[in-house]
Amino acid sequence: MGYKIGTKCLHLEKENAMKDQYGSVSYPIYQTATFAHLGVGKSTGYDYSRLQNPTKENLERIVCALEKGDDALAFTSGMAAIATLMELFNPGDHLIIENDLYGGSVRLFDNISKKNGISFTGADVSVDDIEPLILENTKAIFIETPTNPMMNVTDIAKVSKVAKAHNLMLIVDNTFLSPYYQNPIELGADVVIHSGTKYLGGHNDTLAGFLVSASKEISEKLRFLIKTTGAGLPPMDSWLVTRGIKTLGIRMDKASANAMELAKWLKGQSKVTKVCYPGLPDHPGHEVMKKQSRGFGAMVTFELETKEMALHILEHVKLIQFAESLGGTESLLTYPITQTHADVPKELLDKNGITDRVLRLSVGIEDVCDLIEEFERVFSEMN
Ligand SMILES: *Cc1c(COP(=O)(O)O)cnc(C)c1O
Repeated sequence: MGYKIGTKCLHLEKENAMKDQYGSVSYPIYQTATFAHLGVGKSTGYDYSRLQNPTKENLERIVCALEKGDDALAFTSGMAAIATLMELFNPGDHLIIENDLYGGSVRLFDNISKKNGISFTGADVSVDDIEPLILENTKAIFIETPTNPMMNVTDIAKVSKVAKAHNLMLIVDNTFLSPYYQNPIELGADVVIHSGTKYLGGHNDTLAGFLVSASKEISEKLRFLIKTTGAGLPPMDSWLVTRGIKTLGIRMDKASANAMELAKWLKGQSKVTKVCYPGLPDHPGHEVMKKQSRGFGAMVTFELETKEMALHILEHVKLIQFAESLGGTESLLTYPITQTHADVPKELLDKNGITDRVLRLSVGIEDVCDLIEEFERVFSEMN
């Protein structure tokens, strides 16, 4: 379809509309565990909802089209998606991973994948030359860009060249930008991950996860895995994410415009020692993002002069809520060191600069003057 992405978010569903006898514009919720057979060997194509469910498949087609993949699978959470993806690897396999990853991915690799015989080498993929880290048993490179929470930006096409030269799978967690702003498969990624809980769902009301694959070969393996391990997204949650995607474009544009304003405001504060937002021209990833993304997103990480200041902000915000998660309509403030990244080893936290002075802000779609007023109040209270 030749439409622009904002239009696609709304109208991809039309391809499936008129398929029911009533012509419903919103795709129906097929809240059923199983499907009756017309006779022996006469399946409707739907046998059991762990294998196939029309509402889930409708969502999968939409996400697949937005990410320009071969296939997309919807999971019960982002972590269920990543855990299933790791089943592609065997004992003895090695992966190169970005040092600054979502804490849940680090916990999965450290506690489950390692136990299953998979080994990892961490790298600052945004700046390091990863070619010397490739071993004989290396199978994949796993990155996020921008990273959670330090907002480091990796040139996806550049890493993809290295991956292709060594026959490695390039996996990109695209949660922070969503397909509205970035399409890693077009830049050479083999698998794209989303926590659908974040921008795709977009309303802080449901968990979801996605794997989008670029090739038939990987798609078939992943379809087998989801059918076998069973973490497919239920019909009602699939419908909620489908509805969320309709407003993905306007939400992301508004939240990102707000984030830019807030990043500039934070930058002007004497109590703020660092602002990580790739939309700021002095961010080291600014130029790469202008090349590979359509927007800078709405995540702003910043560092205070002292831990006490960070705690004061967390305890005194009212409009902005102190909570984990991101990418929803409401602004949320997270304390990575005790929340999202609590299980990341101390040396790695130190190396990445995730200290007790760092806050991560997921900017929502409120009127930006109210967000700035809130920060002005909270900042003026601390001396
Ligand atoms: C939240 C998040 C995940 C995990 O997704 P859940 O839906 O919470 O399981 C994975 N990657 C990134 C970048 C995230 O922000």
